[in-house]
Amino acid sequence: MAVETVHYPKGVVQLQQMVKKELARSKTKWDFRDAVDLGLEIVEHIGVLAAPFYFTWGAFRVAVILYLVTLHLGISLSYHRNLSHKSFKLTKSLEYLFAYFGLHAAQGDPMFWVSIHRYHHQFTDTDRDPHSPIEGFWFSHMSWIFHHNYLKEKCGEPNNVMDLQKQAYYRFLRKTHLLHIVGLALLLYVVGGLPHLIWGMGVRIAVGHHSTFVVNSVCHIWGSRPWNTKDLSKNNWVMGLLGHGEGWHNNHHAFEFSARLGLEWWQLDVPWYILKLLAYLGLAKDVKVPTEIQKLKLSFKNTTQFDQLENSSTKSIY
Ligand SMILES: [Zn+2]
Ligand SMILES: [Zn+2]
Repeated sequence: MAVETVHYPKGVVQLQQMVKKELARSKTKWDFRDAVDLGLEIVEHIGVLAAPFYFTWGAFRVAVILYLVTLHLGISLSYHRNLSHKSFKLTKSLEYLFAYFGLHAAQGDPMFWVSIHRYHHQFTDTDRDPHSPIEGFWFSHMSWIFHHNYLKEKCGEPNNVMDLQKQAYYRFLRKTHLLHIVGLALLLYVVGGLPHLIWGMGVRIAVGHHSTFVVNSVCHIWGSRPWNTKDLSKNNWVMGLLGHGEGWHNNHHAFEFSARLGLEWWQLDVPWYILKLLAYLGLAKDVKVPTEIQKLKLSFKNTTQFDQLENSSTKSIY
């Protein structure tokens, strides 16, 4: 039986041809959750098409404010840097509040999002990555969210989020997250009618979705690679500017523990600036960033210099 070897950062995975065929079969099986997600994507994109006809400055302001709160604080700072990677600690009430903001980005409850993301780091750009462009641009960008069965079969059960699972708050959000989103939609409709609903939910959620999806697709295809990571991750300055700091994706795969993604002064990273303010106010602590020696170790530029440094330190010890 043919055996294919796939490399990933923490070693080598061997997937038998038979396993790959099984996986390919599960990719074609749709279930109810896939249909619901596809339906929601269609509805929000219809909202985008209708948006110019319902534009008001009030609705636009609501959309921008909700975008900043749910994407910068919710997805980037909370779901990604705080919950997935534990790059820093927040006071518990602030941790829960920011996670609640993230839920309103309509990208799934915290446990779902964190589980998928941790699998992405564990199996980056291999057959078991939940959303790698090795399965095509469209799959990595968006269509992976319509394949719940496939994701479960290739990555495994979401048993990599026990730290969240044991907290009643996250279990509550898992069970009820759609109700909260529907509640916000109703509130916007009551307050500002169709313009608030279309801009505050449809446009805001669609833009937030694509600004997150491009990190999985574009930032694993186009851009620069200052760090010697064993995957396809790239720093993409366009996505870095547009995507709430997440576009410095090669930086992130090199130092996944780091709370700071824009490592150079010119690499815009708004959530990092917010985190610095929170730390200054005493609301965040244990903020992790890479050390110079860690940077030297992974820098293409300095690989030789690092080898020399390592050799010299080895010599001095022995
Ligand atoms: Zn990635
Ligand atoms: Zn990450």
